[in-house]
Amino acid sequence: MPRQSPKTKDLSRAIARKRVAGLLSLSEKALMEGDEKLSRRYAALASNIQSHYRIRPSLRFRVCKGCGSILVPGITSSTRLSSSNKYVVVKCLVCGKELHKVYKK
Ligand SMILES: [Zn+2]
Repeated sequence: MPRQSPKTKDLSRAIARKRVAGLLSLSEKALMEGDEKLSRRYAALASNIQSHYRIRPSLRFRVCKGCGSILVPGITSSTRLSSSNKYVVVKCLVCGKELHKVYKK
């Protein structure tokens, strides 16, 4: 396959960004309707597209790396501040995996 020109690359990235946003909203909608399996499938597709096209911001705090489910605060994830260590703790309520994000250096 020939290399993509920068212009084509920008265009395909823009399309991919829209797809990721659409898949994330579909994933959230499926979760609200109680279909966890479909929600996880949409989240996995969004994650694949995101990593292939290297779209920023990453889905690190949107999709759980442990179980692949979408992280919706209050439903599938809890968010706490660790004031002693100065980081945000995002915990997946499905598998219990924790993610840390430093908020002060
Ligand atoms: Zn999880």
